[in-house]
Amino acid sequence: MGLRQIRTWGDDILEKNCREVKEMTPRLRTLVEDMIETMNDAQGVGLAAPQVGVLRRIVVIDVGEGPIVMINPRIIETEGEQTGSEGCLSVPGKFGTVTRPARVKAVALDMDMQEFEIEGTELLARAICHELDHLDGVVYTTLVEGELYDVTEEDEEDFEDEYEEE
Ligand code: ZN
Repeated sequence: MGLRQIRTWGDDILEKNCREVKEMTPRLRTLVEDMIETMNDAQGVGLAAPQVGVLRRIVVIDVGEGPIVMINPRIIETEGEQTGSEGCLSVPGKFGTVTRPARVKAVALDMDMQEFEIEGTELLARAICHELDHLDGVVYTTLVEGELYDVTEEDEEDFEDEYEEE
């Protein structure tokens, strides 16, 4: 287990397509564990494998209810829309306004390569879309409406309050 270095905006690897995972190996298992540790350490709600330099279709998400591991994830259904602030561990200190579906249903494989379905609204729906985009080389900055803005400590507190209330 260990922390991995998070690649930042401008690094080519963030714009590449990731390959499917065919089988779970000890090496990939360690990668997933490291991704969870790295996400928690950076206080992020999600992290995709390319963000730590690995072009595999793996994401981890934690919206405060424990880590969710998604391997070869696919969105199978979306409904409605939500517009709100979004940030990315690869774009530190910035936020931008992005419109995402209000509800998302996805399928993925777990650590044992067993298929499961997951449905999310609000932050979870946003996180699933954001992280899956990373697997296709899409960083949220290309989807931002208007300009990116700097995160101040005050904003961060507001942001946390918002999600605590929900
Ligand atoms: Zn991101």
